[in-house]
Amino acid sequence: MRINLKHYINGEWVDSTGSEKEDVINPATEEVMGTISMGTKEDLDRAVAAARAAYPTFSQTSKEERIEMLENIAEEYAKRKDELIDVMTDELGSPLKISEKVHYNMGYAHFTQASKSLKDFKFEEDRGGHTVMKDSVGVSGLITPWNFPTNQTSTKIASALAAGSPVVLKPSELTPFAAIILAEIIDAAGVPKGVFNLVNGSGEVIGDGISSHPDIDLVSFTGSVGVGTKIMQNASHTIKSVSLELGGKSPLVVLDDADVEVAAKTAVNNIAMNSGQVCSAATRILVPSSMKEAFEEAVKNVLNKFPVGNPREKSFVGPLVAQKQWDRVQSYIEKGIEEGATLLAGGTGKPEGLETGYYAKPTVFTDVKNDMTIAQEEIFGPVMSIITYDTVDEAIEISNDVVYGLAGYVVGQDPDTLKKVASSIRAGRIVVNNAAPDFAAPFGGYKQSGIGREWGDHGIDEFLETKAILGFPS
Ligand code: NAD
Repeated sequence: MRINLKHYINGEWVDSTGSEKEDVINPATEEVMGTISMGTKEDLDRAVAAARAAYPTFSQTSKEERIEMLENIAEEYAKRKDELIDVMTDELGSPLKISEKVHYNMGYAHFTQASKSLKDFKFEEDRGGHTVMKDSVGVSGLITPWNFPTNQTSTKIASALAAGSPVVLKPSELTPFAAIILAEIIDAAGVPKGVFNLVNGSGEVIGDGISSHPDIDLVSFTGSVGVGTKIMQNASHTIKSVSLELGGKSPLVVLDDADVEVAAKTAVNNIAMNSGQVCSAATRILVPSSMKEAFEEAVKNVLNKFPVGNPREKSFVGPLVAQKQWDRVQSYIEKGIEEGATLLAGGTGKPEGLETGYYAKPTVFTDVKNDMTIAQEEIFGPVMSIITYDTVDEAIEISNDVVYGLAGYVVGQDPDTLKKVASSIRAGRIVVNNAAPDFAAPFGGYKQSGIGREWGDHGIDEFLETKAILGFPS
């Protein structure tokens, strides 16, 4: 059992001013794995005041000092590897291998990438008649979801600190313990008091408080479109900058010269990874009509290479994070059947032998039309929709026919067609032929998938203001 009823404010673990607590449930066992304190507006005010007090000094630190700070954090982070893996498996239900290879590694990569990006970052540029300077945005409020507990917190913290912006973090109440360890890591790295603050609590109290706080200059949020909308509304009262990483409904375009086995594996991996709880997952698989049967067969064959089961045993797909998420996924599967899509694999209910835990069956629908609910709305579970197309132009049109634009994927061989598809999908990140992750590449969405970009130098830029100086003495 992990119990932490404190918040990290001004370099210290302090008691909450309220008495409300919340249990955190292990989604694989449905048992309580820990308890946190649900912070109050007073707790938030204290944290914001600490960040505000740290701002004048921290914003003036040199780039070299901040590079050293990020390197120290990365070093301390690496020391807590086993514990971070363990805690994410317990609070998120992610299989041990995924907790390590995906969640732990991504968190580490953001700290090291931010320090690398900072080395080359230009904070001042003489442009002839004027000088352009980049200046810390001020105090930032960070609000994160549960599906990538170290990735989202780390990219926001690393970028903000690189930019000289003190922060107040509110992680998801479903997965707060990875963030609590991060606070301990930051403390151990010697980050000055007030520069990093953590307040646990609900979205309605602490999240809402951050987005409307007059002393916060920027809100960086990752989560659902619904909450993103509320954050923009709240932020509008004080004209705060907002950076939003929201949902997705990304396409995978399988070209007619693609290897059908590779395409099927790519598609299944997208719905299996993190049990499909990935904002950038490809969930609409666009397949040439001529390849439909071969692709369906290949998908069925590849599914058993992604076993569902206890995250502490040899599984690839763990449970969904919570009962609420399980119910949501079930209702979308029911909707798909109701709207006339053909169920190729999976379906409603729990996989055999996994009655305890929020396990869902990896589910594949075919004969999906792009206007069906399962093709338009983000399900956030292991559910694939196969949609056929006849021409590449039609595939591009279907790809873009959603309100989202976070990511797109394409597999095939002809370089001109790959380029055409990659440049025509209206989304912030396109992955061609399973290209390896690159933490220097910007991450973020077009359309209702968000505003702004995270990761690398683009991520740092989110936490900076631009100042023009005319007549700057040389
Ligand atoms: P959510 O929007 O419900 O919650 C996200 C965070 O916002 C949590 O910390 C929550 O406590 C807080 N929150 C809730 N109500 C709030 C309010 N009124 N004001 C301020 N904060 C509030 O999302 P979730 O269920 O935790 O995560 C799933 C969603 O996140 C999915 O829609 C997914 O696509 C999206 N997501 C996007 C990205 C991306 O980078 N684009 C990454 C991961 C997840």
